[in-house]
Amino acid sequence: MEDCIFCKIVAGEIPSTKVWEDDDFFAFKDINPVAPVHVLVIPKKHIQSIAALTPDDADVAGKMLFAIQKVAQVMGLDKDGFRVVFNTGEKAGQTVHHMHAHILGGKEMAWPGV
Ligand code: ADP
Repeated sequence: MEDCIFCKIVAGEIPSTKVWEDDDFFAFKDINPVAPVHVLVIPKKHIQSIAALTPDDADVAGKMLFAIQKVAQVMGLDKDGFRVVFNTGEKAGQTVHHMHAHILGGKEMAWPGV
């Protein structure tokens, strides 16, 4: 999608620190990390958010959890644990309107974090 920074990252038009990709997903380091490990996992297909998913997205939505699992393994987080956050919409603070999972790890985390 034009003017979407995450689509531009997937296309290589904006630089990023890639940590993993496959045919459907791309994972890269967050530019403004809030934990020792902070990686974003995005579908290559432009989908605005969880709220915008349609039945046509069932395949990508299902595969996204496995992409998250893979990235957690690549980043060495699978043993100690990690947090996955999908900020969705305005009140949740979503600023980039291309669905993305924040994978956070490398420290003890408190809950609830709201
Ligand atoms: P927020 O910006 O409030 O965290 P989001 O959940 O929409 O809301 O997250 C967007 C994330 O994208 C932010 O953590 C931000 O640091 C990250 N980000 C924005 N631009 C880039 C970029 N060019 N490369 C890597 N990460 C980016």
